[in-house]
Amino acid sequence: MAVRLNEDKEMVQRIKEGLKRTGGYCPCRLQRTEENKCICKEFREQIADPDFKGYCHCLLYYKD
Ligand code: SF4
Repeated sequence: MAVRLNEDKEMVQRIKEGLKRTGGYCPCRLQRTEENKCICKEFREQIADPDFKGYCHCLLYYKD
């Protein structure tokens, strides 16, 4: 299992700017809740799931 950034550097840049703007909350979600702080709860659960492979919701990270 490995988690890495998206290979698309422009995409990474865009999402990182979004995170800066929101103060660390997921830029793809409206609610500013603890669950939506990057790395969000959804992706933490996907990281913990041995069967999950793919991008996080925002496409910032990829897990394989
Ligand atoms: S979807 Fe990705 S970028 Fe958005 S909070 Fe979760 S891990 Fe971070």
